[in-house]
Amino acid sequence: MYTAYSMRDVKPVKLSLNSKFRFKCGPGISCYTKCCSRINLILTPYDIIRLKQCLGLSSGEFLRQYTREEIEERSGLPIVFLKMREDQDNLCPFVTPEGCTIYADRPAACRYYPIGQGTLQLEEGIEEFYFLITEKHCLGFQEDHLWTVESWRNDQGVAQYDELNAEWKAMMLRRDAQSRKEVDPKQQTMFYMASYDLDSFRRYIFESRFLEVFEVDPETLTVIKTDDVALMKFGQQYLKYILMIEESMKLKEAALAAPAPQ
Ligand code: SF4
Ligand code: SF4
Repeated sequence: MYTAYSMRDVKPVKLSLNSKFRFKCGPGISCYTKCCSRINLILTPYDIIRLKQCLGLSSGEFLRQYTREEIEERSGLPIVFLKMREDQDNLCPFVTPEGCTIYADRPAACRYYPIGQGTLQLEEGIEEFYFLITEKHCLGFQEDHLWTVESWRNDQGVAQYDELNAEWKAMMLRRDAQSRKEVDPKQQTMFYMASYDLDSFRRYIFESRFLEVFEVDPETLTVIKTDDVALMKFGQQYLKYILMIEESMKLKEAALAAPAPQ
């Protein structure tokens, strides 16, 4: 199962898109920003694109300053968390008393909150589900505005995030399903770079032997030189190949006899 939020304080009730809940949040509420500390918030590749662009940083600078990394036990793949401040309150680095300073580019998990979202790999395909995160300090549940999960998603603008994160999440789940096949350190390094550190991945494509080994059509090459989202999607095809999930890349004839770069 993939979720972008730690499972503490989660009410274990599965919700569908039509499930209803009462909630309201905003600057007038007395618990304003109390949800923006001490959280294990997983960042997806698209979250990182939005954040590094909003902050005017390279992906490497963003990752160094604002994240920490762990190897996920089930998939054996690296996941990246937003690093809370190292003071006694462990506040999110982007929160101020006035609210979130990167609100327009806040991560998908912040948009969903107080809804959590999970993804399950079933035999018949992928199932998305939702659940309520009911933390004691959150007074929004005492308000009377009625939502469905779907109307909340629309209001918070998560559809684009879900669409752009879908393939990456599916890849994590497919790794889970591969009977815990070992992921070696080189594969982990590549996964980290092609998922999160896209500026380094771009340099790797254009400045290493990558293009001597893999067939990449000229149109794609032109686009990924400047477009981070296109590069992220290309990176996912590459990762499926090196993690042996799918034959998603084509080797050049001349490279077939030589080992692929990792
Ligand atoms: S990114 Fe913004 S919304 Fe999310 S935890 Fe930090 S301050 Fe709160
Ligand atoms: S704790 Fe709940 S109601 Fe208060 S600001 Fe956070 S999400 Fe809104």
